[in-house]
Amino acid sequence: MPSTAIGVAVLGATGSIGASTLDLIARHPERYAAVALSAHRSVDALIALCMRHQPRHAVLSGVAEDAHVRKRFAESGFRGELRFGPQALEELARCEDVATVMCAIVGAAGLASTLAAARQGKRVLLANKEALVMAGPLLMHAVRAAGTVLLPIDSEHNAVFQCLPPGEAGTPSLRAVRRVLLTASGGPFRTLPVDRLEQVTPDEACAHPNWVMGRKISVDSATMMNKGLEVIEARWLFDIRAERIEVVIHPQSVVHSLVEYIDGSVLAQLSNPDMRVPIAHALAYPERIESGVAPLDLQRFGQLSFEPPDTRRFPCLQLAYGALDAGGTAPTLLNAANELAVEAFLAGRLRFTAISAVIEEVLGQIPAEAITDLEALIAADAHARRVARAAIARSEARAA
Ligand code: NDP
Ligand code: MG
Repeated sequence: MPSTAIGVAVLGATGSIGASTLDLIARHPERYAAVALSAHRSVDALIALCMRHQPRHAVLSGVAEDAHVRKRFAESGFRGELRFGPQALEELARCEDVATVMCAIVGAAGLASTLAAARQGKRVLLANKEALVMAGPLLMHAVRAAGTVLLPIDSEHNAVFQCLPPGEAGTPSLRAVRRVLLTASGGPFRTLPVDRLEQVTPDEACAHPNWVMGRKISVDSATMMNKGLEVIEARWLFDIRAERIEVVIHPQSVVHSLVEYIDGSVLAQLSNPDMRVPIAHALAYPERIESGVAPLDLQRFGQLSFEPPDTRRFPCLQLAYGALDAGGTAPTLLNAANELAVEAFLAGRLRFTAISAVIEEVLGQIPAEAITDLEALIAADAHARRVARAAIARSEARAA
């Protein structure tokens, strides 16, 4: 690694965002080095990545200390430090050779390491939107207190960030902004007859028309909970109230989001739908680097279209706005219930249309409370999971 290269920790290296990040790092070895990589349980995939990128640290967060696994890493030629268990993710944030942390773990499991990276003053590249949904005020406070920057990887938020002028302390300024417009593709079921939704399969839900992503976020895109989570994410990231965040369906996924100013000007960021564009932006910010993404050929698209979201088809979007309105721990409850419902759907235990019903039940049963600290959030998350599990079991029993 060149002595000037920036050390990057890629948490969730074996995932879809992890792969795009490592692709970019490999394109710019003089600028970046993958010094730490994590996977949850994908031992073989992590060994393969370590052989290719030669990191100094590797973490298997979902595996307990295991001599056999240790031996396999050694036999593969890995000479760095191998750690096991979830707390090792937080330890990575304390490593001196890590300057930037790509937070690309999926779900609530990514929260603790994201917070640790921010508290240590590392540059945080945030793909793990669930962390902001659960702990927006805590995470943004940690970023400010440490005097560091958080750069959004989610394509919509990255687009908004790119359309805003710089403000104080590395955060963009929203002073003259009237509205933020988040675009949504509408997912694979945008035009499917609504009465067919009940029968759709996990593979159909994961066949996104424009993006190749992990299975959890693919299902979130199909229910549009993804956009709901993104509304909450935008609320905290840009410190903007929900009334000023609008969702517009844009099936081509070329316009990644827009910012409307008080004078009526609307700025947008466009690119081919490839996550290497926002990742390259965040890695190099405020500079620019090549991403390997093909130039945008607007003539090939011919037409870009926009339409309002159908809230009857996509009840999850309204549930997310409702949770934001309820405040406190409500978004945490929403997120936890969604994670369990999506997991059950992917395992063939819950119908697609029951995902929103499970979330609604959890939000109806558990009152939102003020967010005091991380422990309160963890307790709310656990409570929601218990209630969601029971709701899923009842739904399974009814279907049997
Ligand atoms: P993937 O499912 O492709 O990858 C998830 C990664 O997280 C894997 O490395 C996985 O390891 C690891 N992981 C899974 N569970 C845990 C856990 N409990 N603890 C620690 N690590 C875990 O997901 P994506 O890359 O698609 O998404 C990652 C995040 O980025 C999500 O929050 C998603 O919403 C967000 N995002 C993704 C986009 C995309 O285009 N993919 C776009 C915008 C945001 P293992 O392989 O061992 O299971
Ligand atoms: Mg997105």
